[in-house]
Amino acid sequence: GPVVRDQRSLHVVHMTAEMAPIAKVGGLGDVVTGLARACLSRGHNLEVMLPFYESLPEDQIEGLQHDRDFDCPKGRVWDGKMQPGSLRTSVFRGKIDGIPVLLLRPDWGACNIFRGGRIYGGSYNEVEAYLYFSRACLEFLKISGRQPEIIHAHEWQLSAVPMLYWDVYHASGLSRPRVMLTIHNMDNSGECRQDEFAYTGMPGEAFATVDKALDERTIGHNPERLCLMKGGIIYSNAVTTVSPTYAREALEGGAAGWLRSTLAKPDVRGKFKGLLNGIDTALWDPATDPLIPAPYTPERMEGKALCKRYLQQGLGLDVSFDKPIVACITRLVPQKGIHLIRHAVYRTAELGGQFLLLGSGHADGDFRAMAAQDFKDSPDVRLMVMYSEELAHLMYAAADMVLVPSLFEPCGLTQLVAMRYGAVPIVRSTGGLADTVTDVDDGRRSAEGNGYRFSGMDNASLNTALDRAMQTFRDDRERWTDLSRRNMRIDWSWENSARSYVDIYNQLASY
Ligand code: ADP
Repeated sequence: GPVVRDQRSLHVVHMTAEMAPIAKVGGLGDVVTGLARACLSRGHNLEVMLPFYESLPEDQIEGLQHDRDFDCPKGRVWDGKMQPGSLRTSVFRGKIDGIPVLLLRPDWGACNIFRGGRIYGGSYNEVEAYLYFSRACLEFLKISGRQPEIIHAHEWQLSAVPMLYWDVYHASGLSRPRVMLTIHNMDNSGECRQDEFAYTGMPGEAFATVDKALDERTIGHNPERLCLMKGGIIYSNAVTTVSPTYAREALEGGAAGWLRSTLAKPDVRGKFKGLLNGIDTALWDPATDPLIPAPYTPERMEGKALCKRYLQQGLGLDVSFDKPIVACITRLVPQKGIHLIRHAVYRTAELGGQFLLLGSGHADGDFRAMAAQDFKDSPDVRLMVMYSEELAHLMYAAADMVLVPSLFEPCGLTQLVAMRYGAVPIVRSTGGLADTVTDVDDGRRSAEGNGYRFSGMDNASLNTALDRAMQTFRDDRERWTDLSRRNMRIDWSWENSARSYVDIYNQLASY
């Protein structure tokens, strides 16, 4: 579409633990890059502050150059009292995928923070690392004389930023910014002992009250514990999460756990909102995707059939256009509804379809055993326990249906990618899945139907959606192809969401 440029150009500084493609673990990395790129093209001045993890491939950072070194305040607790200190920090500038970044690296002669072969799970303490990083980001803004209109902090890792900004920095020179916090998943809210907060260079006592960052859980309550996400929510000028339904589930259901009471405070409710994620439509484009054997468009769908045959052949499956391929591409963690995925494998085979799983994560063993015992040399089922970007692209292109049976899902990107590739999503009605998938048999809204939904967490409930999809595929192929084509035309790009973020930036900046 045409590039929209906003009237007022804002200076926005993101502070984040992840950024796609080179510092990505999950959806957080995709969102930061997608949103930053959309805001850049709307004419805003964007910078992303990111830890300079040892694992980042430096050859993929354009124009990498040293900016400056500084001493970052950083305390520790000794004898029950905070001992002030500092940690030498180096800042580098460059671009990742065309987006300006500021990379911060601590002195590795003095600590192990951000060292190791991958982004999370190094030998350092993550709470210490991100508390230090939060402080270092603000300290850098101050000493470099930056006065952005907006500081956009992400997830529990950067939740100390709004706290430190308003209590320490705002009155000491870094006065212009307003702070926005985006929560991508409430499952981890950043537990932090009061004394650990000293890693920011500030004693935790100052924040250990009910109206600030004190952890208020009733079961296992510990008066010494802080919750970084709570502090971030209280101190931020605006708080967003990644879909309207997930926001509602946090306020009215159990999605936020005990943080529900924090979000429900009258002064928080008014600044809390759910904004849907988009997808990178350049990276995910069946018309140009270099990872699939035949490109296709809604006008010319022949390529999709070729992709299906190519994958069936490659995996040694029955080569059949009439067997629907149900694909599931997911991390294998409880959130993703593992028992429902297991059930769907058997049910799909029973109904004459083909099931392909591409899964990575904790529950590997189950699917490995299942593949060996029940589906060895099966013409219709492949359970692949691994992470593969290439295979993921091939599977979206070959799939007739993509299953996303999550128990909870803040937004979810797989159902959006599925539609972009002309596959029909079958999803559990939760979080962002409920916001993006409308059931084709939902009487009132069937005209905008783009998939199949179910609500329960039991096998029978999943059947109510899977069975209908299989039946339509078998009995009404014209309707199916129509649906597949229509799905490809839906706009899931960042354009719309970016506009909503910019609206909030503008509201904050006009105070
Ligand atoms: P989450 O961030 O919780 O993992 P999302 O749906 O937001 O879930 O994003 C998942 C992304 O990761 C999608 O782009 C999906 O294609 C990709 N993905 C998940 N598992 C795998 C895997 N095993 N191999 C390749 N890509 C995967």
